[in-house]
Amino acid sequence: MLWRFAKPKSPLAPLFQRGEATYAAHWGAVCSAQNGDSKHHASPFEKGGLRGICLFILLLTSNQATASTPCQPLPEIQQRLEQLARGWHSTLALETGYAPPARYTVCQLKSGLPFADHKLKRIYIRGLASENDEITLAHEYLHLAFSHHPRGHDEVFIEAMARRLVGVL
Ligand SMILES: [Zn+2]
Repeated sequence: MLWRFAKPKSPLAPLFQRGEATYAAHWGAVCSAQNGDSKHHASPFEKGGLRGICLFILLLTSNQATASTPCQPLPEIQQRLEQLARGWHSTLALETGYAPPARYTVCQLKSGLPFADHKLKRIYIRGLASENDEITLAHEYLHLAFSHHPRGHDEVFIEAMARRLVGVL
């Protein structure tokens, strides 16, 4: 999920898009990051308030955790991503936690915010028509490529790296 889209809205905004298993996973990650020893420095609001919001969201989404979004593949974008990922490899190989996914699928996003499904190794995006879409594609790919490391849940790191890879830092 993209913070740059989510930020101007309320932290609850994604909840009202669609209740997906991935949201439970994502919010679980956001929540556990608050409690971990990551570099993220939580504001007083985040330290107290976010934890409560997280519990609330996890309660609401956990009963939908068995559902997964069907995948309508986007082979052209998938091919483009594979090509891009080969170019990114030398940069990413220097980064702790990088483990490129052997297989993954790029799927058509029908509604809500773009996201990556760690379990099914899927990326859901709307399309690839602008530089912003390319950053989104890189962002969601990075969630998969760092999924076995805490950095994979660090939205600040993921977004900064996505912008660096696309060349807009
Ligand atoms: Zn994200």
